[in-house]
This record gives sequence, C-alpha cells and structure tokens, in this order.
Amino acid sequence: PFAMAWLRNDLRCFDNAAIYQAQQTGLPVVAIYIATPHTWDLHQMAPIKQDFLRRRLQQMQQELAEFGIPLLLIEGSDYRHCAQQLGQVCKLGAVSLFAQREYELREQHRDQAVVRALADVGVDCHFIDNQCRFAPGTVLSKTGDVYKIFTPFKKTWLGKFRELGVQCIAKPKLQSGFQLQLPQGLQAMHAGDDSSKAYPVAEAEVLNMLRSFCRERVQDYQLARDFPARPGTSGLSAYLAIGVISAQQAMARLQLEAGDSFWHEQSGAAVWLSELIWREFYKHILVAYPELIKHQPFQKDTAALVWGNNPQWFQRWCDGETGYPIVDAAMRQLNQTGWMHNRLRMIVASFLVKDLQIDWRWGEAYFMAKLIDGDFAANNGGWQWAASTGTDAAPYFRIFNPVTQSERFDPNGDFIRKFLPELAAIGNKHIHWPHPLPMSVQYAKPVVDHAKARLRTLEMFNAVKKPG
Ligand code: FAD
Repeated sequence: PFAMAWLRNDLRCFDNAAIYQAQQTGLPVVAIYIATPHTWDLHQMAPIKQDFLRRRLQQMQQELAEFGIPLLLIEGSDYRHCAQQLGQVCKLGAVSLFAQREYELREQHRDQAVVRALADVGVDCHFIDNQCRFAPGTVLSKTGDVYKIFTPFKKTWLGKFRELGVQCIAKPKLQSGFQLQLPQGLQAMHAGDDSSKAYPVAEAEVLNMLRSFCRERVQDYQLARDFPARPGTSGLSAYLAIGVISAQQAMARLQLEAGDSFWHEQSGAAVWLSELIWREFYKHILVAYPELIKHQPFQKDTAALVWGNNPQWFQRWCDGETGYPIVDAAMRQLNQTGWMHNRLRMIVASFLVKDLQIDWRWGEAYFMAKLIDGDFAANNGGWQWAASTGTDAAPYFRIFNPVTQSERFDPNGDFIRKFLPELAAIGNKHIHWPHPLPMSVQYAKPVVDHAKARLRTLEMFNAVKKPG
C-alpha cells in the first residue's frame, strides 16, 4: 500500500503540505502530476507557462527521486479525465490521496469528481489549504464579514500574523526501496517547447533567488519597485504562481532577513509583504465571490457599461502599436518575455479600458494568454482594479495619463528604448511623445487622442453610475 500526493500548483519539494501529510500516514509516498493541456488551453494558459510547468516537473522528478519519492508524470488532456486516471494509479495499491486545495470553479468540480470516484475504490481524499498564509474565509471582520477592501483586510491579516507567525514544512523524509511504474494505459508526460528556458527551474536556485532578494534588494524595494527599467521587484511571480516557492516561504525568509524592519510600515520589507498580502486578498475575494470566476464585475452597476470594443484598436494594443511609447514598450515586453512589470500592467490596463473603451475582459484574457505568471485571482483583481469595476477600484474618473506616467516612471526613457528599437535614436525630451519629430516616422501614429478619449470614458461611466 502507498499514499499519493497529487501535485497541482505546489511544484516544490520543500514546504509541500501534500507530500508532508502523505508521509505522515507512515506509508511510502508516490507523487503524481497530470498535465491537462486541453483544460489549460480552455483557461487560455500561456504557452510559455505550459512549458514552464513541464520543465519544472521534469526537474522536480529528479529532485524528489533524491528523497526516494517517485513522481509519476501523466499526460492527460482534460480535468474531466483526472478522476479516471487517478483511479488507475490507485489500482496499484493506493489507500489515500493528499493535495493542496485549489479555489477556482473547474478545479473544484474536478476535485469533487475525484473524491466520488476514489471513494468507490476505498481511497480517501484530503485537501489542504496551503496556497495562502491564512486560508480564504479565515481573515474576517469582527462581525464575521468578508473584507471588500484591502486596507482593513491587511490590518486584520497582520494582526493574525503577529500572533501566529509563519512556519514552513521541512524537506520530505527520505524513503527507500519503493518504485512505481506508470500503469498500463496511461501516457507519460511530453516535454515542452523550451520557450520558458530563460527561467531556471531548479528549486535550490529559486530559493537562492528568494534569499538574495530578501537579503540584498528588498531594502530598496519601496523606492525602486515602480521603475520598470530597474530590477526593483523580486521577479518571483512565475514561481509563486505554480508554487515552486510558497508564499509562506517568501514570508518566512523575508522576516528572517529583514529583522526589525519587517514591522516598520515604511520599510522595503513591509511594502513587499504588503504585495504578498494583496495576493492573498484576491484569493480570499475569489472564494467569497465565485461569480468573479464567471467574469462578472465585482461592482454590479458596471455590468451595464457599453464598451466600444473596436477590434482594430484592440489589435494595435496587443501588438504594441498604439503610438503611446510606454504602452507599446510594455506590451512588447509581455509579448517577448511573458512577463510585464507591475507599474506597466497598471498603465496598459488603464489604457485599454479608459483610452480605448475596450472591455477589461478582453485584456484579462490577453494577459492570461501571454503571462508566465498568469494567476486567475491576481489577474482578475488587477484588471478589475484598473477598470474601476472591482474591489478597491480606482475611482472611474481618475484616469492615468499615459504620457505623464511614462515621464514619472521611465524618466530617461531607458525602458522604452529597450523594447522600441524604432525610437532608439530619440532623446530624453521627446521619448515619451515623439510624434512631433520627423525621425519618429517609423513609429505608429497615436491610436486615439488621450484628452478626447478620457471624455468618452467619463461619459461611458456616467451613464451607469448613480450620482454621488
Ligand atoms: P513583486 O513586486 O516582487 O511582488 C512579490 C509577489 O507579490 C509577486 O510575485 C506576486 O505573487 C505578489 N503580488 C505583487 N503584486 C500583486 C498584486 N497587485 N496582486 C496580487 N499579487 C501581487 N500577478 C500575478 O502573479 N499573476 C497575474 O496574472 C497578474 N496579473 C496582473 C494584471 C494586472 C492588470 C495587474 C495590474 C497586476 C497583475 N499582477 C499579477 C500583479 C503584479 O503585477 C505581479 O504580481 C508582479 O508584477 C510580479 O512581479 P514580481 O514577482 O517581481 O513582483
């Protein structure tokens, strides 16, 4: 007999609750992963993220082998077949299954089907909340309500953290003499296309990245994080998204390295912790308001907004050809690398919604289809924030001016020049708005006039917002 650890978004050996709990049974443990490219495509998961998952899993198979734990990598297609595929593995002698809980709708349906199918063959399933430091539903107001805004959520979250701290699970126990082959009828997972190879996948290397960020760079985070030309942020989002590191590991490491400054509100460490709390906040919101998964706006009145949805404008935005340098450089960063700086995500999202009057859901889907760190809760939260349809949303009448944003956050135009070679020769003075210069002829003409676009957007929102 053996226990199964079914891996999903927890692709790490350290601090892995599913593996830990499975080992607690005292039985040998088999880890399993089922690749589901059909469902991934349905979720618009970016090809680069799909490759990243596959690369990480091949690597993790070797890493777990060092602990004597076999990792069965199964090529499936759709979530709907997972129950049957796990059932086939169970026939080899499984008595229980452990997995980290996932909160999105299709994931929950998949897990319910697994529980039913495995109950029929006498295997019990255990789902463990470990995606957040505090599981969704456990950070509530004094009256037991879910927080709809971030600041009070964070205050309560920090209170709990002060009281309970954070603990990580050590590495798995060594087990020996236990091997398991993929059962007949199941296919071994394919390799990816290597499109994510710029991202290392060895767990030790990623833990080092976390350590050196917390040791050497987090002090400057608060000052550097808004400037896309500087390596001011951790760059760890892709790893957090598929769980190569856990949020708890990030918090524990931060607390250890930052010492007292961890609790000083203005310190880089505290501001970085705040970003990790945003991550938790959006997951809590997703669980409390499952309609978000069905792409409904958080603020109900905004469901009535009448979008322009001009497909040519949308295409120009996707391609980085809007004629607004900061927007275009950002979109090309996304298209070329699978990642975009947070400040730029806010700028391009605002531009799509409030300059082009395009439905935020188009942008949300495009981001998902390109991001290596695509995460439903964070992406949906970010888009709804930018579109003024979500929690904490930017008030709809506060509209980013893309040129002023560019002057503030890329003052010398270094970021713009890196991704827009056609503007390489333009000096600092004109880099944010090169159109008056004859040498900008190679570059796209502005898709809209920002001042006029702004007025159109105000009209669009005024039509659905109650006065006051
Ligand atoms: P750091 O600044 O080092 O932050 C550390 C970690 O905190 C991040 O890795 C991430 O896990 C978390 N985090 C930071 N900011 C946020 C935030 N606003 N909301 C939730 N979590 C946050 N983040 C994703 O992980 N996946 C997404 O699909 C995603 N889509 C976004 C879409 C829009 C429109 C916007 C405005 C933001 C989005 N974000 C998303 C949040 C943020 O932009 C990225 O997490 C960040 O840029 C990742 O870079 P980093 O790891 O260097 O971040």
